Amino acid sequence: LSLFIGVTGLYAQNSGIKSSVKDVEKKVDSVLSLMTLEEKVGQMVQYNGSWDLTGPASEVGNKEKEDRLKKGLVGSMLNVLSVEATEKAQRLNMENSRIKIPLIFGYDVIHGYNTIFPVPLGETASWDVDAARESARIAALESVAQGVNWTFSPMIDISRDARWGRIMEGSGEDTYLTSQIAVAKIKGYQGEDLSSPNTIAATAKHFAGYGLAEGGKDYNAVNIGMNELQNVVLPPFKAAADAGVATFMNSFNTIDGIPATGSEFLQREILKGEWGWQGFVVSDWGSISEMIPHGFASDKVHAAEIAVKAGSDMDMEGGAYEAGLQQLVAKGKVDEALIDDAVRRILRVKFKLGLFEDPYRYMNAELASKIPYDEHRKTAREIAKKSIVLLKNENNLLPLKNSVKKIAVIGPLADDKDTPIGNWRAQGEKNSAVSVLEGLKNANLGSKLSYAKGVTLGEGERSFLMPLKINKTDRSGIPDAVAKAKDAEVVIMVLGEDAFQSGEGRSQVNIGLAGLQLELLKEVHKVNKNIVLVLMNGRPMEISWAAENVPAIVEVWQLGTESGNAIADVLLGKYNPSGKLPVSFPKAVGQEPLYYNRMNTGRPSNDQHVTYSHYTDIQNGPLYPFGYGLSYTTFKYGEINLSSAELKTGESVTLSIPVTNSGSIKGKEVVQLYIHDVVASVARPIKELKGFKMVELQPGETKNVEFQIDSDLLKFYNAKGVWKAEAGEFELMLGGNSEDLKTISLKYVE
Ligand code: BGC
Repeated sequence: LSLFIGVTGLYAQNSGIKSSVKDVEKKVDSVLSLMTLEEKVGQMVQYNGSWDLTGPASEVGNKEKEDRLKKGLVGSMLNVLSVEATEKAQRLNMENSRIKIPLIFGYDVIHGYNTIFPVPLGETASWDVDAARESARIAALESVAQGVNWTFSPMIDISRDARWGRIMEGSGEDTYLTSQIAVAKIKGYQGEDLSSPNTIAATAKHFAGYGLAEGGKDYNAVNIGMNELQNVVLPPFKAAADAGVATFMNSFNTIDGIPATGSEFLQREILKGEWGWQGFVVSDWGSISEMIPHGFASDKVHAAEIAVKAGSDMDMEGGAYEAGLQQLVAKGKVDEALIDDAVRRILRVKFKLGLFEDPYRYMNAELASKIPYDEHRKTAREIAKKSIVLLKNENNLLPLKNSVKKIAVIGPLADDKDTPIGNWRAQGEKNSAVSVLEGLKNANLGSKLSYAKGVTLGEGERSFLMPLKINKTDRSGIPDAVAKAKDAEVVIMVLGEDAFQSGEGRSQVNIGLAGLQLELLKEVHKVNKNIVLVLMNGRPMEISWAAENVPAIVEVWQLGTESGNAIADVLLGKYNPSGKLPVSFPKAVGQEPLYYNRMNTGRPSNDQHVTYSHYTDIQNGPLYPFGYGLSYTTFKYGEINLSSAELKTGESVTLSIPVTNSGSIKGKEVVQLYIHDVVASVARPIKELKGFKMVELQPGETKNVEFQIDSDLLKFYNAKGVWKAEAGEFELMLGGNSEDLKTISLKYVE
């Protein structure tokens, strides 16, 4: 499609979809040279497209917006309601504007588009980067056919606080694991090359620190020092930049007093300077204008000045750039070169995506009709199985034996077809998941099952903006549940959180089983102790009572479309669970923020003595640690071995451990490598994940699992901000979770 080419005559007609970097730069420059200041500023404006673009532009605000589209004064839209509306918006722009620069359409494709995969926290529990990449590839394919060019994913904010509602959207508490998943997601969305068919641009968000909001309260201030910023928060973003992520999104929070959106240090110095990244930064929703209530900007014009100087290239639905940038340049307050830089970055992504060649990129019914949704569902089931974490399994209650004749399925989430779709569900339709009850029926257990909801969890309308109303009074279903439990050999209880209890703006101070769920569990427990607790949730929960009293617990997160089938596969032993927690589970919410890679204190923990660092009313440590997860088989770790006790720069040593499947069925184990720098110029965490490998073992089989250790693995940012390994003693640790580890010492000589 070259309808615009004739207009300017300046774009070289492209022979193929792929253009070299040099080509792209030339084209960007030639387009930029044609643009007026007003048009340039227009590229930096993104509109929310949630009005009915296909209807008459009757509402005043929308009429104005449509006029701006026609004049080519909008660079991007997000949340456009349908493929028809997307096409209409693009046509308004392409057929009427002077230069005809295609719009780029963004959408929150977070864990699938039509086919819904586990919420990101759940998928990370698979520790399977191929799975993370594949679900992103599928999400790209499904969304591209509907006109989406760009997803606001992956969210790679490190989150250490289970109270934070958005913990479900990321990869949990660990920097290394988050980095690995981030790169896989980006490759899945963007393919090897953004211009390949069926790819969408990805976004690394939220830059930066958003997941460390004080008290776990969404949007709250972040007060961390340089050490934590550089060593904990930024590495996944660096990995994303290195992997060629097309865009970054900045964040709502202040960090050390400066709104991230207005942070020149983060965006210009680090991201675009030190890291040399060439993509564009989109603000978060209105985050430029939010600098006014932050007390950092006096009005929209001032906010626009701060943001553009700081390196925010596009204003998401904030109206600040639209209101301020032109006059700021005219008055000499903002150098036009800054505007040029932002526009260049935006055009670069548009060219790379192939939007100039085809502004209606892949918005096509034929592609849509060929999407293999059935295949996608199969993949969704595979990934959902891998994301399940077995937390407890006393007396081998699981997998359920064939001999069990009567199973009661109980709980508000047992037949819930909506909660597994989770928050940020893109086009995942309401009530479209396979419920646990349905999954068990699909596995032909129908004749053995009885079902009772017991209690309702959420009441009334559930929506993105409303807090969920929890039922705390209606106990009328409990007697039926208790009767059914009494009559059964095994009870499967499905409890946890409603889909709308986690996600944006859904921080909570209580992270236990909300409403009457614990009461229901206790009542059932009085009549039947053979309980399998299926825990469905978007955040780590406080489940101490259950952990003590219930023999089997399976963490299933919110697993998406195929949820119930995947859960049945695990409960029945058709799949041997292999997931591991990407977040620590606390014993009590008061322990939050809780994470394994903590710093030591001058009073290392010893629960026997009041003057050590601890709470007086609880033992230190999590209920279930980071990296933890059981299997239906058992694994034994042999002696840890190091090829040399000394490591020199430029060399590497081999660290290995024999792992044996000591049980009676085939199983997969994630072998984890942690490192601790014993004495350093900056006190270092007690351990940090630096590698992992998945091994599959037949019963009785042993494999030697190896890791190569070189000085790169020992590096950290020191107090001067230098990424460096320091000579001295290191502890290398291997094992199946962050607490149960074998340790060996290594001396590093520079
Ligand atoms: C969220 C972003 C999201 C954006 C667009 C914001 O409220 O913080 O993560 O991409 O909305 O929906």
